[in-house]
Amino acid sequence: MSADLESTKTNLLGLPKAELEAFVGSMGSKPFRARQIMSWLYKRGEGDIAAMTDLAKDFRAALLERAEVRLPEIVKTQVASDGTRKWLLSGGGGQAFEMVYIPEEDRGTLCISSQVGCALDCSFCSTAQQGFNRNLTTAEIVGQVWLAIRELSGETGWKVGTGQDGEGRIITNIVMMGMGEPLANFRNVVPAIRIFLDDLGFDISRRRVTLSTSGLVPQIYKLAEEVNCALAVSLHAPNDELRSQLVPINRKHDIAELLEACWHYLDEQNGRSVTFEYVMLEGVNDQPAQARELAALLRGKPAKVNLIPFNPFPGTQYRRSTPAAIERFRDELMKRDIIVTIRKTRGDDIDAACGQLAGQVTDRTTVRLGSKTFGLQVRA
Ligand code: SAH
Repeated sequence: MSADLESTKTNLLGLPKAELEAFVGSMGSKPFRARQIMSWLYKRGEGDIAAMTDLAKDFRAALLERAEVRLPEIVKTQVASDGTRKWLLSGGGGQAFEMVYIPEEDRGTLCISSQVGCALDCSFCSTAQQGFNRNLTTAEIVGQVWLAIRELSGETGWKVGTGQDGEGRIITNIVMMGMGEPLANFRNVVPAIRIFLDDLGFDISRRRVTLSTSGLVPQIYKLAEEVNCALAVSLHAPNDELRSQLVPINRKHDIAELLEACWHYLDEQNGRSVTFEYVMLEGVNDQPAQARELAALLRGKPAKVNLIPFNPFPGTQYRRSTPAAIERFRDELMKRDIIVTIRKTRGDDIDAACGQLAGQVTDRTTVRLGSKTFGLQVRA
């Protein structure tokens, strides 16, 4: 059980505005107190209620009795030669999850997890190998961003909520592409996204918060009604036969059904395009004929394709496509007017690349990853 699930105090972190207002209301206080608390939490990075000095003394004392700011614990930090950082976080009870920060010239992207493990069983993903352990709470999802800003801001001070379009910020983009399937944890993910977007929260623009899904079709329709953020979809194959092997959820919701949900999402959200992720697996899905099949599927649609060179992990049967095969695939798509990019592999010397997040720990005495139910593996 994580500390978050054990404590009887209300965790202020992760409560969207309406819920925080209801909470302070239940303490007999006015809604504006919720705004003050959010400002302390997300604009100033204050995690100590006692230090929230513009809250009336009595209210602060009552708040200290009933509430707290509870964060996941950082177990390990790794910095790659390219500046990519990976943190291993403890969810208590021997459970661990990871987040990755990817600095680039014009942006800083934080890749966060939504679950410990994953139940979707995609054959090329190392997180799948550990099976599903549990959903992260909203506080644990929001807490990742909070902790990353704190860790990265260091001496320079908390940098969030200043300037539009990322100016002066450390984290300009959030992608839910870490461990887990975010739409399988809908209940906790949606309030977290609200806090990312809320101008009283992290105040990140809706085009810079991306949810990536393996294709849970009913939840894409639900998401369209709940929040407004960018959507990425793990397509990985141009036809149902192959996709069903790589992404087993396809057996339940096929490509046609999935694409229809994507276009519906854009209509509802007034969005520009959906990004389709496509992992490049040598000899499996990287042939020119498959690129042409993919182009036929997406031609004329509001779609972008992001080719991801496969990141290997111990025990995998797959190999990364050669650079020449990836470029050839890209060119076939471009010739057919498909917008396509090749994802740069970052942080591979610390196993921080896509699909490598397995919550691995080398020091088993600090965090023991283990799930009897799912036979979770610790990679040595
Ligand atoms: N469950 C969500 C988000 C997690 S993974 C989803 O499926 O979209 C983020 C992206 O990394 C997905 O597109 C996923 O398919 C891809 N990925 C998984 N394993 C990978 C690997 N070993 N190499 C490259 N990309 C991988």
